[in-house]
Amino acid sequence: MDHFAYQNGVLHAENIPVATIAGQVGTPVYIYSEATLRRHARVFAEGLAALPKKHIAFAVKSNPNLAVLRVLASEGYGADVVSQGEMERALAAGMPAADIVFSGVGKTRAELSAALRAGIGQFNLESEEEGVELAQIAAQMGLRAPAVLRVNPDVDAKTHEKISTGKAENKFGVALDQTPAMYARLASLEGLDLRGIACHIGSQITDLEPSRQAFIRMGELLATLRAAGHAVTHVDLGGGLGVPYRMGETLPGPADYGAMVAAVTADWDVTLMFEPGRVITGNSGILVTEVVRVKAAEPYPFVVVDAAMNDLVRPAMYDAWHDFVAVAPTGETMTATVVGPICESSDTFAKRREIDVVKQGDLAAFRTAGAYGATMANTYNSRALVPEVMVNGDQWAIVANRIEPATILAAEQVPDWLK
Ligand SMILES: *Cc1c(COP(=O)(O)O)cnc(C)c1O
Repeated sequence: MDHFAYQNGVLHAENIPVATIAGQVGTPVYIYSEATLRRHARVFAEGLAALPKKHIAFAVKSNPNLAVLRVLASEGYGADVVSQGEMERALAAGMPAADIVFSGVGKTRAELSAALRAGIGQFNLESEEEGVELAQIAAQMGLRAPAVLRVNPDVDAKTHEKISTGKAENKFGVALDQTPAMYARLASLEGLDLRGIACHIGSQITDLEPSRQAFIRMGELLATLRAAGHAVTHVDLGGGLGVPYRMGETLPGPADYGAMVAAVTADWDVTLMFEPGRVITGNSGILVTEVVRVKAAEPYPFVVVDAAMNDLVRPAMYDAWHDFVAVAPTGETMTATVVGPICESSDTFAKRREIDVVKQGDLAAFRTAGAYGATMANTYNSRALVPEVMVNGDQWAIVANRIEPATILAAEQVPDWLK
């Protein structure tokens, strides 16, 4: 459920007509609904209500906008960050350092030091090498770094190959069979407070069975580690729960996920940690665009819009589907291919799809664009960096400015020898 609905035949974001925002900010523009964001944050937390000890860390990479983080901070969410930049955003949004988890396979020494100085709550180690380095740096600072070891459970999350992270061939985590020995070596290091294990098998997971299998393996590993004398107090189960991208699609939701987790982890007696991203932000945003023109072609026309793959890369990168709707639909439909202006054939949002009839100058929206949307935007083809707006009931505000090509040009210079 979201708060982007038609009122009097025109698409609104909460109480604001989408056309009002497009008229003042221009297009393309991302619009987030604060009420939707809060609703998803609460529904996810309610899905886990039966679990006695838990910590929810929003996966910042899915939508790092400061205003979005601020909303989630006020909902009691911590943050799962994968770079110093994301850590600084989470702190700037008012999230307590202790509620921040630092994930990622390539944390640099500088990032590890900065995160230790900031006092973040947990490092999710991706290798023994990283653990040894973190222990050294922490010991030099007179600290013990709270950490868990990320395990690669070698299950197929049955999602797009580019967003699968829990198979043996993926770069993430350490092999399950090597974990007990590695855990023992890391646990003995002065600078580490090794307190548990983590996994994250992929994103846009639409079938709970692979996650269940992964968690069962985590439970077996937990028992093995405890039998070896380790006091394991934290297990991080990652994120990855999928969202419906197509109108009418139904998927397992937070309540189903929570029930599955509760069943698998019933006797674990640990603090369970979660890192949801897409399930919180996906449906909370749309990308609004204007139709540049409709180009006649056989057998179907091309609808050329002013948003492109640089603004929303998911269709080009992951073959992802986003519903495409007119802001003021006439009720008629047409079959067309929806494309952006970028000079790449992959700049295609929808192929030969039945869509609302649109014509030059009409506004349209790509739905479910709140996750992995603006955050992946770039300026390819010397286009502007897309702006972001947040709506709250009757009020709205720009929460990220459009960065014009001239601003980006101003950051470049011609070397003396070419002048
Ligand atoms: C990307 C990522 C997440 C969030 O994934 P979603 O599919 O957006 O829920 C959580 N944890 C880690 C380690 C990640 O890399």
